[in-house]
Amino acid sequence: MAGVSRLQYSTEIKLIRVMCSGRVDLEFILRAFSTGMDGVFIGGCRLNECNYITHGNYDALNMVLLFRKIMAHIGLNPERLSIAFMSSGEGILFTEVIDEFCKKVKELGPLGKGAELGLDELKSKFEEVRKLIPYIKIVKREKLASRLENEEEYDGFFTSEEIDKLFSDVVSYHIDPARCRACMICLRKCPVEAIAGGKNQIHVIDQEKCIKCGTCFEACPPRFGAVKTISGGPVPPPIPEEERTIVRKSRKK
Ligand code: SF4
Ligand code: SF4
Repeated sequence: MAGVSRLQYSTEIKLIRVMCSGRVDLEFILRAFSTGMDGVFIGGCRLNECNYITHGNYDALNMVLLFRKIMAHIGLNPERLSIAFMSSGEGILFTEVIDEFCKKVKELGPLGKGAELGLDELKSKFEEVRKLIPYIKIVKREKLASRLENEEEYDGFFTSEEIDKLFSDVVSYHIDPARCRACMICLRKCPVEAIAGGKNQIHVIDQEKCIKCGTCFEACPPRFGAVKTISGGPVPPPIPEEERTIVRKSRKK
């Protein structure tokens, strides 16, 4: 409506249209900041007035509340991320909210300046968080999909302690070479091809590629129980390639 009514609003904002605010992913916000945006604003339909049955605006709200806590955790001012709900007919409200947000971001200054971490440090933090996004979505899936009736309940929906714990308790997956029987089940099921292995080869997880989805842990047959979880400690280095071949008992003779 703001465009049709030729309403004026800040030209410092770049609009990206999506069909539903629920489409905006944690990764999109992270990418915007990583590529130098000083602030991210998400506009969605009013809560409980979703055009679809999905109520994606609640997903967007939960995601923003979570990401604001993550921002504080990594040293980025959470005020740089904002969400507001309005109907498409509320053009004047839209322009007011946008102008207010742009003013706020200008006051905060460019990313990485002032009280925040420097740009290079922030970029390495963004990369750390980016790798953990699938893990965060799995660990927080229930809260991210919830829909609270009372808006006040959202005030402490995600706490700083909870986010600190989320990062300190990050789980890594490791294949115990002594237990792996090279059945290849985990390798076939890994969604990001993070597992190296083959017939009669002890399998190894590439920690750089692993998105910590836990699929290999679930998939490894209990009689082998080769996939282990590691939390709060270093992951053992992968065994050398020349030591990965499994010699089956029947072939030893
Ligand atoms: S945790 Fe997921 S991504 Fe990582 S190795 Fe296992 S299956 Fe692959
Ligand atoms: S599923 Fe378990 S036993 Fe089979 S290859 Fe993977 S880690 Fe090894």
